Amino acid sequence: MNIGVLALQGDFEEHSICLRKLGVKVREVRLPSHLNGLDGLIIPGGESTTIGKLATDYRLVDPILEFAKSGSIWGTCGGLVLMARDVGMRQPILGLIDMTVERNAFGRQVDSFEENLEIENLQGGPFRGVFIRAPRVTRVGSGVKVLCQLKDGSIVAVRQGRFLATSFHPELTDDSRLHAYFLEMISNRD
Ligand code: GLN
Repeated sequence: MNIGVLALQGDFEEHSICLRKLGVKVREVRLPSHLNGLDGLIIPGGESTTIGKLATDYRLVDPILEFAKSGSIWGTCGGLVLMARDVGMRQPILGLIDMTVERNAFGRQVDSFEENLEIENLQGGPFRGVFIRAPRVTRVGSGVKVLCQLKDGSIVAVRQGRFLATSFHPELTDDSRLHAYFLEMISNRD
């Protein structure tokens, strides 16, 4: 399986390390041609405005949307923001998941936190969620499945068909279950 990690800004390296541990071939994506032949793409955390602007400058937005017609995409944290249809402000986004997102929903950098999460269909007990200036999902369309909510009801993981989005950073833990989940999503896609 060939997985790409969008490597414009943010913690793409940590995702690559997680994927390689699972025995996957990883390619850093910086140019449209780097998308050729990939089965899946991860959009990492970082600053969603910066990643969006760089993706626009590198002429990657349309090629990613083209890739999305058959490929699977997972956005984490800043990457979740890019997956949204609406973020309540003007910035380049992909609009792939029918959801509204509130950026920096839990406060500033100093308000970062970790929490044990129950994630739908993820066996083996709670998943340690690392939230760093994280977004939350405030609305989902009817085609979107909510996979995880915090105790206060904040939606922090969703899936719409081939698209996955999480508010937190699984690549910053040693737990590779969500990366494995994404690979399984790709294997079982229709
Ligand atoms: N606050 C960032 C944004 O909204 C996301 C932070 C992150 O990816 N850790 O773009």
